[in-house]
Amino acid sequence: MRRKLIAGNWKMNGLLAEGTALAEALVNLQASNSVNCDLLIAPPATLISPLATLLSGSGIALGGQDCHCEPKGAHTGDISAAMLADLGCRFVIVGHSERRNDHAESNTVIRQKARAAQAAGMTPVICVGESLEEREAGQAEACVADQIRGSLPDDGEAVLAYEPVWAIGTGRSATPEDVARMHEAIRKVTGEVRGADYAARCRILYGGSVKPANAGELLQLLDVDGALVGGASLVAEDFWAIAQAC
Ligand code: PGA
Repeated sequence: MRRKLIAGNWKMNGLLAEGTALAEALVNLQASNSVNCDLLIAPPATLISPLATLLSGSGIALGGQDCHCEPKGAHTGDISAAMLADLGCRFVIVGHSERRNDHAESNTVIRQKARAAQAAGMTPVICVGESLEEREAGQAEACVADQIRGSLPDDGEAVLAYEPVWAIGTGRSATPEDVARMHEAIRKVTGEVRGADYAARCRILYGGSVKPANAGELLQLLDVDGALVGGASLVAEDFWAIAQAC
């Protein structure tokens, strides 16, 4: 009943020529190979407008990688949720560990950003995940539960993404057993925060070194409702192979 979502997080990669070529390659793949999942790409902000034109009518949704929590004002360099929605974004990633670390984003700020995304008519993709130190200290589940309690809005739709920090960009994915256990725990905490009905329909993605070689075993796990893909989303055939694993 939960349709899987495969999301590409391009991070800070792609000049105009590369980004449009990658999006065109995805549109071409989609025209010749159907997949059984929803598709989303989150390019850098500079590429949203050209990609909106390119992807229009393709069924591949567009998302931002971050937004500000205020609707407008004196915030040099920031982008509001309404600005992303205005260009055709339907989703926005909030609370990615790179933002939590590089920009010291707290759960409180991430919740405000998620609410701003909802207010602009988008679905936030809220990222959670423990560091290696937290995992080694046996604190992984407690840390992720804290992040969910602190950053998930009280109402409205949201997608959750479990991304263990030690698995991001390292080539070292979490094992299917780790992922299964954590996703089950995340659904349980989501139920405590938002009730059983919401928890049953909330999509929980896994992210962290997802690639064609491990996508099949991760995506068949009961509580894994898709993937948030970084590095492999920059290669059209790899991203497509991951989507085809659904
Ligand atoms: P990765 O990144 O697939 O390159 O590990 C995932 C993410 O950070 O969203």
